[in-house]
Amino acid sequence: MTNPILSDWNTPFEIAPFAEISDDDFAPALDQAMQAHNAQIEAIASNKDPATFANTIEALEAAGEELDKVLSVFFTVAGADSNPKREELQRDFSPKLSAHFSGISSNKALFHRVADLWDRREELGLSDEQVRVLMLTHRGFVRAGAALQGDEDARMQEIKSRLASLGTSFTQNLLADERDWFMELSEDDLQGLPGFVVDAVRAAGQEKGTNGPVVTLSRSLIVPFLQFSPRRDLRETAYRAWTARGANGGITDNREIASEILKLREERANLLGYDSFADFKLETEMAQTPDRVRDLLMEVWDAAKTRADMDADILTEMMQEDGVNGPLEAWDWRYYAEKRRKAEHDLDEAALKPYLQLDRMIKAAFACANRLFGLEFAPLDVPLYHPDCRAWEVTRNGQHIAVFIGDYFARGSKRSGAWCSAMRAQAKFPADQAPVVINVCNFAKGDPALLSYDDARTLFHEFGHALHQMLSNVTYESISGTSVARDFVELPSQLYEHWLEVPEVLAEFATHAETGEPMPQDMLEKVLKAANFDQGFQTVEYVASALVDLAFHDGAAPADPMAKQAEVLASIGMPQAIGMRHATPHFAHVFAGDGYSSGYYSYMWSEVMDADAFAAFEEAGGAFDPERAKALEEHILSTGGSKEAEDLYLAFRGRLPGVEALLKGRGLIAA
Ligand SMILES: [Zn+2]
Repeated sequence: MTNPILSDWNTPFEIAPFAEISDDDFAPALDQAMQAHNAQIEAIASNKDPATFANTIEALEAAGEELDKVLSVFFTVAGADSNPKREELQRDFSPKLSAHFSGISSNKALFHRVADLWDRREELGLSDEQVRVLMLTHRGFVRAGAALQGDEDARMQEIKSRLASLGTSFTQNLLADERDWFMELSEDDLQGLPGFVVDAVRAAGQEKGTNGPVVTLSRSLIVPFLQFSPRRDLRETAYRAWTARGANGGITDNREIASEILKLREERANLLGYDSFADFKLETEMAQTPDRVRDLLMEVWDAAKTRADMDADILTEMMQEDGVNGPLEAWDWRYYAEKRRKAEHDLDEAALKPYLQLDRMIKAAFACANRLFGLEFAPLDVPLYHPDCRAWEVTRNGQHIAVFIGDYFARGSKRSGAWCSAMRAQAKFPADQAPVVINVCNFAKGDPALLSYDDARTLFHEFGHALHQMLSNVTYESISGTSVARDFVELPSQLYEHWLEVPEVLAEFATHAETGEPMPQDMLEKVLKAANFDQGFQTVEYVASALVDLAFHDGAAPADPMAKQAEVLASIGMPQAIGMRHATPHFAHVFAGDGYSSGYYSYMWSEVMDADAFAAFEEAGGAFDPERAKALEEHILSTGGSKEAEDLYLAFRGRLPGVEALLKGRGLIAA
């Protein structure tokens, strides 16, 4: 029998035939696909003809089609709907894949052909996009160590393979800690919690198989609990468990893993001739150097800390009025901030929530994409990997653009956080290929499902990434969609969050779940004002994490990462009542893989741009200005990695942004 993953997918839009695939199909499909890919690579590398763009670069672009299929299906289910078998497969696959890809990037014969083309690029008659793909391919080989010889070469392979499996262990430890911990609540403990939190803790209890309600470590459950529970003792217990993820001792402890990862990264950078891992990593980013990153973060830090210190004084006073003595602690901040929000903005998150129905917010995200880019969304009835998944066909002027899949609800089998990935990326070579894009979130289930304002922003954020994939219009897959510099990739997503805040969007789509009434005008105004609320806290918790990440990778690897973390926090005067957004033992952005290592700053870097880019719409005549929308698609959303990020931004805006727009946007300096 042929393996359903590798057979032709005779499904609508060639979406993976999830219903026909069993977990037993993955391992043989992976082996077969890697073999096929290796044969293709070998044929390219050993070609007797002189290297041409077609027989080398295009041949590389076209190779590995089967492997793409296996990995897109596997990583989709392993991230969003895991089980012990899939976790085991992931442990097996990780070193195999690492070995496979480093085998390709260290293939000397192949590298020589690419290097030869790179040397002759002027005389090859290539298009701009082709030169760019050639440059990126060549740079990729060099950075992967293709130019290394002998012992150094062997050591590089060892390091990469070890890093890959350490990253997987880090993630799995985190998942295990998140799954194992929960706190049972008595009926009395529910006092003070708004209805949606009560529903969510009861639903969590059912999922855990307890008779009563429980708090778990899912962000969408624990954050509202910390915000609303008047029980300081329970908040402390929950907060301590949440921040202890990955640092509980025993086999799921991530601290040793983090330390080993940092040492290996430094060694890797040194082997390639860089002073530090941050130097190596930032070379390909828009920021380019650690100093530019640190300067930007510290400019933001000073304004944010000033605001957070002022806020801490106010919250401490509120707590003391509550009869609690001693300093404000990290498990107090959200609770008193919520009280203050109610007092000052009179915006009650619980009253707000019925207006933020998941289905209406999805419609809102679609409607904005329709007005801006002419996209239309029609529900698509296809079997996916979990009954909670939904799919839409995306068209423009009757032409198929993409398939969009939304998997919105939290469940134990899903890793935490929210993400967007392309199950198939856009390309025109070797044949037209329309994207299949998925958004995965962790919203609490309900009937109807209601979102917090934060959740609604997450929905728009991930949808912004999806647009970057769906509107991609390049020839080669390797530079398609979100294949851009890491500190540029959050621009489309963070920019899209601004449309949620457009008053007419909320007025139309934020309708009450029971009455269907639109959000009252005064509530709407409060929502918009409250968007800046507690930004001192939010900015501080984020920037602290970004600075620790940078310190880990700029210079020699720290002997003890936890000590280094403490040192950095002390040096910047971290407020005592604010924790890092992600502390080292559960800082998956930095340790689960290479993606955001010395790159966590990039959200902030992108926010500098998104504030500035949205201002371009406002200056031009409004959030839906057609000329600006056209420019956004033309220069940023459709271009993938076909040009340097700085050039793309310049083409859209005509200039580069400074930090001021961001500080104003966050309300950290006067507008
Ligand atoms: Zn994002």
